[in-house]
Amino acid sequence: MATNTSPNPLLLKPSSSIGAKNATTPNSISCAATPATSSRPSPSSSSSSSERVFNFAAGPATLPESILLKAQSELCNYRGSGMSIMEMSHRGKEFDDVIKKAESDLRTLLSISDDYAVLFLQGGATTQFAAVPLNLCNSDDTADYIVTGSWGDKAFKEAQKYCKANLVYSGKSDKYTMIPPFDSVAQNPDAKFLHICANETIHGVEFQEYPVPKNKDAILVADMSSNFCSKPVDVSKFGLIYAGAQKNVGPSGVTIVIVRKDLIGKAQPITPVMLDYKIHADSASLYNTPPCFAIYICALVFEDLLEQGGLVEIEKKNARKAGILYDAIDGSGGFYVCPVERSVRSLMNVPFTLLKTELEKKFIEEAAKEGMVQLKGHRSVGGVRASIYNAMPLAGVEKLVAFMKDFQARHP
Ligand code: PMP
Repeated sequence: MATNTSPNPLLLKPSSSIGAKNATTPNSISCAATPATSSRPSPSSSSSSSERVFNFAAGPATLPESILLKAQSELCNYRGSGMSIMEMSHRGKEFDDVIKKAESDLRTLLSISDDYAVLFLQGGATTQFAAVPLNLCNSDDTADYIVTGSWGDKAFKEAQKYCKANLVYSGKSDKYTMIPPFDSVAQNPDAKFLHICANETIHGVEFQEYPVPKNKDAILVADMSSNFCSKPVDVSKFGLIYAGAQKNVGPSGVTIVIVRKDLIGKAQPITPVMLDYKIHADSASLYNTPPCFAIYICALVFEDLLEQGGLVEIEKKNARKAGILYDAIDGSGGFYVCPVERSVRSLMNVPFTLLKTELEKKFIEEAAKEGMVQLKGHRSVGGVRASIYNAMPLAGVEKLVAFMKDFQARHP
């Protein structure tokens, strides 16, 4: 590891030297308090690419280095305010600008019309498993769930507490490796909504197209936590989309809900205030203290995605990365195996096993030594899983593929 990794030499100073200055000129305190002539490392040298690994974690997941550096550069003194975004009022002008820009950039990215509210909430996607039925139906209403993996299953089980959740398809007996033809799914004609998990993070199964609810008054609801903003999506096909941020668009702590406005305001009486979409929509996600820093990072990510050309371009990059990885697996002559049916393989989470399962531990350990980390499959399924979200560079996937070929050659 290189020299000085402490981002803030001020923290290392005796408090007396800080306090003395603070007493008279509070505004002069900043991360740049170190004299300009000092050898304080620049942001790039304190977090240089050479020190960063390729992080294949499923979430919290890798973020673009450029965004981490930008956040670092304005961490102590946000745009001349003299304080961090973490320290200022969520009702002040600076944060108001941040959350408004996050929303408007997200609206541009996904072409979200004014018929939809965009909410920045807390509690993770898991909280939405309850919030969805609580807001969209009464306790004696039916709702249909297509379960293509563990997350959809969790959503279904939670919903059973708040409505008559109906399991219309479960891929469990096929070990969650497929998505059924939609016309084979017997939907309940009275269901208030049809729920899917658009991308199953653990099993690597992704909807390429979306089912239409049988009841013409029902809506489609999708958990998009692990493929949010990875490709264009026609939001108008959905009544509600929700996504935890910590895979593709930011740190954990904020959950984004995109909900059609006419669905808001009908929550069950028992709905806690923090789960009621109307409360949050009426107060523009500022009913209580929001996760300010997480929203700020999301705002930087959305801006960056737009600068890259929007989600059409992002999808092309993701398809290329996933393509070379799946090709490597399929071209390995059975050394590596991806169990997921080809037509529904995820662009984001690529699970695979080694034919010689006893080699998996070694594979993961050796990859980590080469700077490719968090490749272990989810504890419930084992094997290997490479999560290759938007922020995973092509170079990371190329390096993984080269390593896979080399590993195979060394273990004939
Ligand atoms: N849905 C999906 C598809 C997920 O991948 C996850 C988290 N891995 C969740 C829901 C749960 O999200 P959270 O931890 O934010 O509650």
